Order: sequence, then structure tokens, then C-alpha cells
Amino acid sequence: MDQEIIIEFSRVSFSFGQGPPLFQDVSLKVPAGSFCLIQGPSGSGKSTLLRMFNRLEEPSAGQIFFKGHPLLSFHPPRLRRSILFIQQTPTVFDGTIRDNLLRPFTFKNNRDLVRPGEAQLNKILEDFLMEGLDLDDHAQTLSGGQLQRLCFIRGLLLEPEVLLLDEPTSALDHESAEIVESVTRRLIRESGLTVVLVSHKKVDFQDLAPMVFEVTGGRVTGLQ
Ligand code: ADP
Ligand code: MG
Repeated sequence: MDQEIIIEFSRVSFSFGQGPPLFQDVSLKVPAGSFCLIQGPSGSGKSTLLRMFNRLEEPSAGQIFFKGHPLLSFHPPRLRRSILFIQQTPTVFDGTIRDNLLRPFTFKNNRDLVRPGEAQLNKILEDFLMEGLDLDDHAQTLSGGQLQRLCFIRGLLLEPEVLLLDEPTSALDHESAEIVESVTRRLIRESGLTVVLVSHKKVDFQDLAPMVFEVTGGRVTGLQ
């Protein structure tokens, strides 16, 4: 049986405004539940490619499909909940860890989601090696690596189907980067989510047998 394809790019081209094309005629398929690694030199377009996955950028030609339906047919806030981009620089609000984790549940578009209880929040903090923290602690007191993990948790509570990660450790100090990398690895191995991760370092995550897409010269080639 064919593996289900969760995201497909079909002959996608992209330019910023009237500028020269950054991508030309890109086709790729992401199987559901897979781990995909987008690699390529700095400035080759990796971040832009990733941003097209959930309509943070729109192709200038061609089409992108999510579970067989054109991305354009989805309401962007709902699409971005299913295909979730975890920001490199975490956004935290003035408030406690609990306030920060539950903030998305106060948004109108997320009214259909069940708000997690205290036990679930404490469990997920533990899963992300932050069991020493109290939900009443102020988010501003956390380190860079803890904030990044807080953003992961906040995203995962929205039950996404696809996680988009753009160099998730590059803005962090060494120790924070190691913790976030181990959490990322665990998600990739154990979550069953489809994970698409951008990295400019060739050695990253190769041990997890990713499906690799190489971005160079406006093309994307699959190296499996
Ligand atoms: P990468 O993530 O591989 O480093 P990017 O996708 O960030 O590459 O950028 C690809 C190219 O597009 C670069 O030359 C960059 O300068 C250019 N670029 C990125 N964002 C914009 C923008 N908003 N407007 C115009 N050019 C941009
Ligand atoms: Mg980038």
C-alpha cells in the first residue's frame, strides 16, 4: 500500500515580489509520520521553503496540498494550528508558565480544543525535563533553552499534525541547545507527528534516518 502523503508541493515556484525566482518548479512529497530534513547553504531558501508549508509565504506558481486538499482551501489560523511553525526566538507573554501554556486556548479559533488540566501540564513539563518548575513561576525567569521548550510544549498542546522547525537550536547557548536537541530527537522518535526540520549543518540528525531534501540553486532534490 502507498504511504499516505501529508504534504505535497506540485511544480512550485517562488519569488519575493518582482524579484528573481528563489525556487523554480519544485515538487516534493512528505509522507505522514515521517521526519524530513531540509538542508542547504545559508541563503539558499530553506526558511522560505518551510514558510510555504503553512502559508506564511505563498508560491508564485504551482500548488501545495495538505492531505490532498489545496492549502488555499484552508482557513489560515486553523491550517497553522495543524501545520505548526515553532519560532526560533520564543515569544513569551508577561505572566506565569501556566498563563503562557494556556494562552492559545483563550483564542477564538481554538475554542474547539479541550483545555489541558494541571496534571497534564505538569506531566508535559516533566517530559521536557522541567519538572523542577512550578506552573505559577513567572515565564520571564526561565533560561533561553527553557523558553524554547515552553514554546514547544505550547505548540504541542494544540495537537498539530505537522511540526515545522527552523534551526531550532541556533539561537541558544550550548547547554540550552543540547537540551532542546534531545527534546527534538525524542519528539521525532516517539511522537508520530510529521516533523520537517531545517538545518544548515550536514551532520545533524542523520542517525534518525531522515528523508533529506537538499536546497540549492532554486531547486530541491530528495536524497533518501
Ligand atoms: P536560508 O534559510 O536558506 O538561509 P532564506 O529562505 O532565509 O534562506 O532566504 C533565501 C534568500 O531570500 C536570501 O537571499 C534572502 O536574502 C532572501 N530573502 C529572505 N527573506 C526575504 C524577504 N522578505 N524579501 C526579499 N528577500 C528575502
Ligand atoms: Mg534560514
